[in-house]
Amino acid sequence: MVEQADVVIAGARCAGAVAAATLARRGHHVIAVDPARFPSTTVSTHLLFAGGVAELARAGVLERVEKIGAPRLSRAFIGGPGHAAAGAFNPVDGFDYGMCVRRAPLDAALVETARDAGAEIREGHRVTGVLWENGRAVGVRVRVGERPGRRRPRPRPERTRP
Ligand SMILES: Cc1cc2nc3c(=O)[nH]c(=O)nc-3n(C[C@H](O)[C@H](O)[C@H](O)COP(=O)(O)OP(=O)(O)OC[C@H]3O[C@@H](n4cnc5c(N)ncnc54)[C@H](O)[C@@H]3O)c2cc1C
Repeated sequence: MVEQADVVIAGARCAGAVAAATLARRGHHVIAVDPARFPSTTVSTHLLFAGGVAELARAGVLERVEKIGAPRLSRAFIGGPGHAAAGAFNPVDGFDYGMCVRRAPLDAALVETARDAGAEIREGHRVTGVLWENGRAVGVRVRVGERPGRRRPRPRPERTRP
């Protein structure tokens, strides 16, 4: 099946969902695909610096993220063997605090925001290739119905009876 869209985005977490929301708000027909099904987690710790909080505000998702219930952090501490640093966050766009938000609800909030903005977010879909015409990317190939974390079973070696 061939479909048309102005923009197709591979991945629908921090980068993909925010790009989808921003472009959809500007009137583009956006489809973002991700093999994940949200809410789902990914490899990451959970600290948002003040710059990250400011980005959420710019993307129009901060209110939704605050409802997840993460408290504002006024001070940061980073330590390692022989080294430690503590202090306040440098303000960005007037935000002088950080937050610690688990990725599953954070990413789900980003996806909901992109959908509210009019983007189509297709879960369980993976981009498997880029279509080229005259040296330009003109589309993508997508595999539908993928379950994250599940791979095709490897063929088992044949068993021989003793
Ligand atoms: C161990 C660790 C700790 C971290 N701790 C922090 C932290 O405390 N604070 C912080 O701000 N940042 C942290 N980061 C960085 C942060 O996780 C990344 O900057 C952020 O996740 C990047 O967002 P992203 O949307 O670009 O990518 P991701 O969050 O990685 O999302 C990419 C998405 O693309 C999808 N995808 C991949 N291939 C395809 C495909 N072919 N087709 C469709 N979809 C596809 C994946 O399923 C995934 O959902 C950490 C990172 C790591 C690894």
